[in-house]
Amino acid sequence: MTAAAHLAHRTAVTAPVPTPTILELADLHVSHGAISALRGIDMAVREGEVVALLGANGAGKTTTLRTISGLHRPAAGAVRFCGERIDGIPSHSVVGLGIGHSPEGRRVFADMTVLENLHMGAYRFKRLRQEDLERVFALFPRLAERRTQQAGTLSGGEQQMLAMGRALMGRPELLLLDEPSMGLAPLIVAQIFEIIKEINAQGTTVLLVEQNAAQALRIADRGYVLETGRITMHAPAHELLDDPRIRTAYLGETTP
Ligand code: ATP
Repeated sequence: MTAAAHLAHRTAVTAPVPTPTILELADLHVSHGAISALRGIDMAVREGEVVALLGANGAGKTTTLRTISGLHRPAAGAVRFCGERIDGIPSHSVVGLGIGHSPEGRRVFADMTVLENLHMGAYRFKRLRQEDLERVFALFPRLAERRTQQAGTLSGGEQQMLAMGRALMGRPELLLLDEPSMGLAPLIVAQIFEIIKEINAQGTTVLLVEQNAAQALRIADRGYVLETGRITMHAPAHELLDDPRIRTAYLGETTP
């Protein structure tokens, strides 16, 4: 091998392969009637990451997730999933592409049992796959115990588990989680975050919207901060955790 060929070979072997971007939002504008909820946001999520999207009430976090899922149509800009434009695609087709959504407020089907809710999550497939059900029950043993219970009678934490389990039944490559810790006791919140880490470790990319910034940043690789429809910061999660502006605005610390 010549020196040049040797060098080329070494470079090919040792150069880090960039992780592909699974989701990209480019100059995304979304309005609700006269209200401009997103004013040109840019974001990228790479395969295998946990990315946290933080922001105060009304910043536009839910609107961002709902737009990715096809529940809002952007006024301008693009949503790309695995390099393909998906904005304007109906939400049931977005699920079919491999995007799961655990919505704000959980929205379980209250009159259906746990098992029936999980079946609903698998509707992109012709039939429910037993191995998917087993995976969900392994992640959430509580759901296995309560499989025949009506979802409306579950506790808040159990309903959160069901909303996540239902989204996982569609075998998503990207899981959107909207405020999974909302209204839950600290012990249950800790469990839910552990399970999010496990879901990610099993290969699912996660975009996590949270008011609980500290917990979210502890399990995230990177974070974005949304303020009245604009991204004002984005950085590795550990940098955001140490940032004085984040500590004051989102982690409840008072300035010295
Ligand atoms: P929260 O943390 O309170 O859920 P958020 O960051 O998720 O807030 P969004 O729910 O996305 O924020 O709302 C962004 C803005 O858009 C807010 O001003 C909100 O009032 C407005 N908005 C959201 N949905 C609608 C709607 N269906 N009709 C009119 N305005 C809406």
